[in-house]
Amino acid sequence: MPCPGTGLALSADPPTSQLTPREKRPSACPECGCGHITKFGFYRWQDGTRRQRYQCHGCGITFCAHTGTPLHYIKKRAEWHQQAEGLGLGLSVRKMARALKVTPATAFRWRHGVIRQLRLRPRAALGSSVAVTEAYVPYSEKGSRTTDGPGARCRIPLRRYRRFIDGKPSRVLLLSNDRQQAAVVVDRGQPTVAAIQASLASLVKPGAELRALGHVQLTDACRRLRATFQHGWHQSVARVQWLHRHLHNWLRRFHGVATKYLERYLVWHSRVFRAGARRPVRVGRRMLELASLPAPAGQRAG
Ligand SMILES: [Zn+2]
Repeated sequence: MPCPGTGLALSADPPTSQLTPREKRPSACPECGCGHITKFGFYRWQDGTRRQRYQCHGCGITFCAHTGTPLHYIKKRAEWHQQAEGLGLGLSVRKMARALKVTPATAFRWRHGVIRQLRLRPRAALGSSVAVTEAYVPYSEKGSRTTDGPGARCRIPLRRYRRFIDGKPSRVLLLSNDRQQAAVVVDRGQPTVAAIQASLASLVKPGAELRALGHVQLTDACRRLRATFQHGWHQSVARVQWLHRHLHNWLRRFHGVATKYLERYLVWHSRVFRAGARRPVRVGRRMLELASLPAPAGQRAG
């Protein structure tokens, strides 16, 4: 039955397999990364189900398979899994909250739990023929209780602003070849050639052909890389232009994205873009599935 105000047909009873997925034995301690772990009794949830507990022999902590993931401490597991379709469709926080019958604060926390975890997953570098372009996303402190920007009131009397932020937009590099896409925030304002080069180096395989659409700094950075720089039209150029338009239109629904969360939204957008608009539920379920895995070793959610 469609949820009022959202048009979502959220299932009231998600499959049991989604609520209690088979837990894999963790390969390492989520705290110290030590691989010497043993079973250590059980945790019992409020609904009576048991979860295997483990102990680390390196640091001594006990944990379960979901420790260190957004699923840890989630009590409303059914609603958590129902957010899959909303994630695939890119619903706003308030629409998602109405659909799931949770508060906007909970919907926000769940969303960011998922996309923060996805950002930690390793990304494959792009090879073959890669087109690069740049996008600008306006500076925003959306949702902040205190702001450093213009118009911010200061607690100290006689000082209207704590600090004046330049408010420069974030510069985002967008890359695409025939099959893969990538997006990364370089800097705010006008980044240097070295900064662009450093960002590109982590996203492009050595020996790839590059085609740049943008300012001279972008072209210079491409030339400095050990990649072949090409001119002219290619299928990847059309695809990166489509990626640019899609990102621009997709971000509009949020009426501004806080600059500090922009990287997370880019990861979310890349998942949606890759799948197209046909299978929002599948995209959302895949996002939840990846987010429920422990973060890669050495990565901490931030
Ligand atoms: Zn440990």
